[in-house]
Amino acid sequence: MQSRAPSVMSYGTPAGMRAFRGEILDFRGDPRRDPDALRHLQDGILLVSEGKVSGVKPAAEGIESLPPDTIVEDHRGRLIMPGFIDAHIHYPQTDVIASHGRQLLDWLNDYTFPAEAAFGDAANGGEAAGFFLDELLRNGTTTAAVFATVHPESVDAFFGAASARGLRMISGKVMMDRNCPEFLRDTAASSYEDSAALIERWHGKGRLGYAVTPRFAVSSSEEQLRLAGRLLDEHPGVFMQTHIAENRDEIRWVAELFPWSKSYLDVYDRYGLVRKGALYGHCIHYDDADWKRMSASGAVAVHCPTSNLFLGSGLFDYDRAHDAGAPVALATDVGGGTSFSMLRTMHEAYKVAQMGGRKMDSLDAFYLATLGGAKTLGIDHLIGSFETGREADFIVLDMGATALLKRRSNLARTIGEKLFVLMMLGDDRAVAATYIQGVRAGIAK
Ligand SMILES: [Zn+2]
Repeated sequence: MQSRAPSVMSYGTPAGMRAFRGEILDFRGDPRRDPDALRHLQDGILLVSEGKVSGVKPAAEGIESLPPDTIVEDHRGRLIMPGFIDAHIHYPQTDVIASHGRQLLDWLNDYTFPAEAAFGDAANGGEAAGFFLDELLRNGTTTAAVFATVHPESVDAFFGAASARGLRMISGKVMMDRNCPEFLRDTAASSYEDSAALIERWHGKGRLGYAVTPRFAVSSSEEQLRLAGRLLDEHPGVFMQTHIAENRDEIRWVAELFPWSKSYLDVYDRYGLVRKGALYGHCIHYDDADWKRMSASGAVAVHCPTSNLFLGSGLFDYDRAHDAGAPVALATDVGGGTSFSMLRTMHEAYKVAQMGGRKMDSLDAFYLATLGGAKTLGIDHLIGSFETGREADFIVLDMGATALLKRRSNLARTIGEKLFVLMMLGDDRAVAATYIQGVRAGIAK
């Protein structure tokens, strides 16, 4: 059993050098393109100073040469790697996780929209954001692209809670002005004004980034999509996040609403939303032209396997996306997704690939959840690896967290096999510690 410790709110970055000893790994590139992309030190030390990585060395070379006042944390027998990046998740849907028996459109109406109605209240949003962020940290996720609700207050609550924890987080107010309940509806004009004010208030403040967030084409008028594109033009560096090509009924509806469109992606493209820094959740039912356009634009396909299986949406094709050269990130999509754990998410991504007659190996999966995710977001100069100067958001994974994980991982002959065992058998219990800017988050086991 696990107990939840109170959140630690003080993420000050201690002065002086700290060293973390253990089995260290990170990626320096895409393992499908570079067979040497994985850096792996069986017994290494990660050096952290002022909240940033200041080096990685084999322990045999580095341990003797540390400055005498260096604090060394000994994690020998455990893995140390960069924190996970979840590229698509809804914090207001925490309480609708595991809601039974619907596909996308009914699931939104029956569960999600009623739950989101409560987020006009800042106190409710603050409580939910705090629980949500603790849950991310407990699962080893240190950065996420997070949908709020239509209410600006929900964004203020989320960014306030993320800022208090010193986290690098992306979020935005959902824009939705039609085909949704009246109580969740904005207007094209109000969504533009509210989003612009939130960008002004939060984007680039500390470690926070704003994402212009039209929910999906079904629930936005053409005017609202046009203004979403305008927000991106007016605020360079701001992200965009939405949903696309998740469910067949949804796709048919989009074709009816936008009769001029050549495809679902074409709807967003008309308004300048298909571009670098744009995160497209799902991308399941795509044709070759869609993949070509994604690749040419640099827009990101976000693979949400637990959600796609839970809602019966379909099977994402990672090989096809990768072969087309489209950036791909991995995500939980809670509450359509069924777990906050990126390990569980990798597990399901493997099975989705299997169902499509493909293979996703462990290096692919861990790359997507760390450096790959950071690259697609354009923040790999800040997080995602242990290159010197990166922010020291990292996790310690315990292969002995459960009897079965310990027994099976003891038989692993290679690091690839060990990681595969971890993604198939691991979950939040395997996350022994999560560090934010070099400081351990107060999430107890
Ligand atoms: Zn979603």
